[in-house]
Amino acid sequence: MILPVYLYNHPILKKKSQKVTEMTDELREFIKNMQETMHRADGIGLAANQVGSDQAITVVDISDVEEERGRQHPPMVLINPVIEYFSDEEEELQEGCLSLPEFRDYVTRPSQIQVRYLDENMKEQVKEADELLARVIQHEVDHLNGIYFFERLSPMRRALSQKKLKRIIRGEFDAHYPTFGLE
Ligand code: ZN
Repeated sequence: MILPVYLYNHPILKKKSQKVTEMTDELREFIKNMQETMHRADGIGLAANQVGSDQAITVVDISDVEEERGRQHPPMVLINPVIEYFSDEEEELQEGCLSLPEFRDYVTRPSQIQVRYLDENMKEQVKEADELLARVIQHEVDHLNGIYFFERLSPMRRALSQKKLKRIIRGEFDAHYPTFGLE
């Protein structure tokens, strides 16, 4: 089932997510819906609060992008993810967000990370990631902590982004996927 994507400035996107303690049939179904919603929107990551749930779950799928580059990355489900290591080395990459339609900008973040999480079987996993995967996981874990990517922009870029944010609140954008705004 495709779920509507909650847009800036819905309060759930500023809330810290709650830890998941057990896997249930209902939760499995919800995770499947998150994956369908992400694919439908041509996204490469989606956090549960972007579809209205306060559970600490995110889905990531960069397989299409990475396949073109000859790298294999199976889709991931990350429950209660915690980034345990950030490299000192940083890089600047362009980011976008399904909750911020038509808004893209360059964000500087650590280039490598290590993340600890539970998979869809509630089995603990530790994964090192770099390049695009490190970027997407950092963006999604930020969502679960109530942080938008534009909050990581330099002060100058952040000031310039105000207009784009106002446009989203006014509903002045085209999204090719179902959205849920406050207006
Ligand atoms: Zn996002």
